[in-house]
Formats: sequence, structure tokens, C-alpha cells
Amino acid sequence: MTDNVHTDVESLSPETAPGTVFDRYAAEGVLAYQSCASCRQAVFPPRVLCPSCGSDDLDWLPSGGRGTVYSATVIAPRGKEPYTVALIDLDEGFRMMSTVTTGDDRPVAIDDSVTVSFRSSEAEPPLPVFAVEAGR
Ligand SMILES: [Zn+2]
Repeated sequence: MTDNVHTDVESLSPETAPGTVFDRYAAEGVLAYQSCASCRQAVFPPRVLCPSCGSDDLDWLPSGGRGTVYSATVIAPRGKEPYTVALIDLDEGFRMMSTVTTGDDRPVAIDDSVTVSFRSSEAEPPLPVFAVEAGR
């Protein structure tokens, strides 16, 4: 077995799997993302390899949890309350999909400033959700 193979196996162990690390940060109320040490690209969702240059040298960083709405869609399931799903550009340069609430009757709009919080549930790791900042 070569050192390379050993490294690959290590990086795929359950404790260091990207989704597991993300959940561990989320449990502490931190929205984490990765930054490629090689090309400096912000990486999200969490991965083993940089999608930009292929490097496996990805550092975990805490996001400030603030961003702007890139696009938004209202999902209206039959018999349930409608909710908004949006693509959010975080200040650190990565984009993620999440739910967004406004706290009033106005719809979520493109370029709205949003802040993350975490929705806890017994069964699952905390989920990042976003709210439009007051005074938009
Ligand atoms: Zn890279």
C-alpha cells in the first residue's frame, strides 16, 4: 500500500468525512465551509477534493453566516404552508441552497441580505436556515 492510498483512506474515515465535519460545526452553531489551500477557492458543499483544481488540501473555516439572495423560489406543497427556498451567496464567496424567511408577509427578494441560524431537531443534525435582515 502506498502512502497516497493510506492518505486517501484516512481522508474518507467517518470522523473526517466532509459532511460529518460540517455537522459537527453546525452542532456548535457555526456555518462551516472549506477553502482550498492550493487555489484559494471557497468550496461548498463540503468535499474531499477541490472542484476547481483537484487538490485535497482543503481547510475548514467558519463563515460569518451573512449573505445575499441570488435567487428564490416559493414552494407551495398541497395542504401545507408555502416556504421559500433560495440560493444564497455567502460573503466568503460560496453559494448554498437553504430556506429563507422574512418575518413578515413580504416575499423574499433578490439581493435581500440574510443571516444564518440553525434549526435543531432531535433526530437530525442542526440545519442552517436563513432570515432576511430587518430594515431591508
Ligand atoms: Zn483548489
